[in-house]
Amino acid sequence: MKVHVKQIECAGHGQCALLAPEVYELDDDGFCATGDVDVTPELEDPAALGAASCPAQAIELIEA
Ligand code: SF4
Repeated sequence: MKVHVKQIECAGHGQCALLAPEVYELDDDGFCATGDVDVTPELEDPAALGAASCPAQAIELIEA
């Protein structure tokens, strides 16, 4: 699975990094600093949890 964070749509809520810090990182201003990343199978559940929590729907999950 791949994660794609549409950074232009990120509103800096921080929910992704709060719920899945092993996948999502915030920058110093609280916006998601994660861009496009490959997610290992063991991190797919946290990646999906973080994506579902994003109020801005800025996180896209792409099945490999
Ligand atoms: S939850 Fe969404 S809006 Fe908030 S920091 Fe993460 S990507 Fe950005």
